[in-house]
Amino acid sequence: MGLFISGFQHPVENLSLTEMNEIYQFQFHPYKYPFPQPLLTSHGNWAVREGIIVSLRDDNGRIGRGEIAPLPWFGSETFAMARNFCHQLGEEVNNQEIAAIPDSLPATQFGIISAQEALECSQPQIPSLHYTYLLPAGAAALQVLASYKGEEGTFKWKIGVGDPVEEREILAQLAQILPPGAKLRLDANGGLTLPEAQKWLEVTDQMNLVEFLEQPLPHQQFPNMLALSYNYQTTLALDESVATAKQLEACYHGGWKGIFVIKAAIAGSPQRLRRFCHQYEIDAVFSSVFETSIGRTAVLRLAAELSSPHRAVGFGVNHWLF
Ligand code: MG
Repeated sequence: MGLFISGFQHPVENLSLTEMNEIYQFQFHPYKYPFPQPLLTSHGNWAVREGIIVSLRDDNGRIGRGEIAPLPWFGSETFAMARNFCHQLGEEVNNQEIAAIPDSLPATQFGIISAQEALECSQPQIPSLHYTYLLPAGAAALQVLASYKGEEGTFKWKIGVGDPVEEREILAQLAQILPPGAKLRLDANGGLTLPEAQKWLEVTDQMNLVEFLEQPLPHQQFPNMLALSYNYQTTLALDESVATAKQLEACYHGGWKGIFVIKAAIAGSPQRLRRFCHQYEIDAVFSSVFETSIGRTAVLRLAAELSSPHRAVGFGVNHWLF
């Protein structure tokens, strides 16, 4: 946000949007679109993305759009909760009401505050970032990686899906055909047991080519993941454990020094996220929740601002799984 007030060296947003008594015309449009094929998640099949496009119109006739893209099984509010909240906001909304959106509605906070920020952004372009290619689970990954023509890139492969011994054999083969400048991420989606996680980390420590292992254990086992992060060389990332800004802050203050995967669209206020990332300089990887282009633009702008420059964002075109 390049807007400055004369005499101050701080962007307007740092003075807090709530200090300006702005009233906006508010509109919202629920949407629903089916995925070309249902997505397999750790919570079953996901066939339809439901969300809400919100718009704010200020006194000067400028319009800012944002997207509420809930992901309830990942810890956000439901679509119905977000829709009810938009209904009760009415046709006009002011800064105080926007600042008072409760933390229990993190996707709504993100959508409406990004609409407010979009009002100040004259060029809502998607920045150029490095993206992640999701490989299919199991041995099918070998064929896909073998057909890859580039010399670098970041690949992600799901583990904890099939037989662990076979998966580790496949990993050894993937390592052999990984292009020289490419990176490989593993994501367990919290599906490993502690002894299995230890076996994986022994292997990845020896291989020394895995960029990081994402969410080895369920989020209830944060202390065990913390211990693993100290006991092995391989970098660990938290994803399911840090779905909301509140959880992100709790894990940071709980001692997490590894990577934080941030699904910004459900992480609450972008302003709070910005403050947190700037204050603590965390190693952040931004990731998608299948937003439309409106939410995606807001998330990617935030990612360009806050994510670690050497990390690809989790927004691959084939990014069917988290
Ligand atoms: Mg993940």
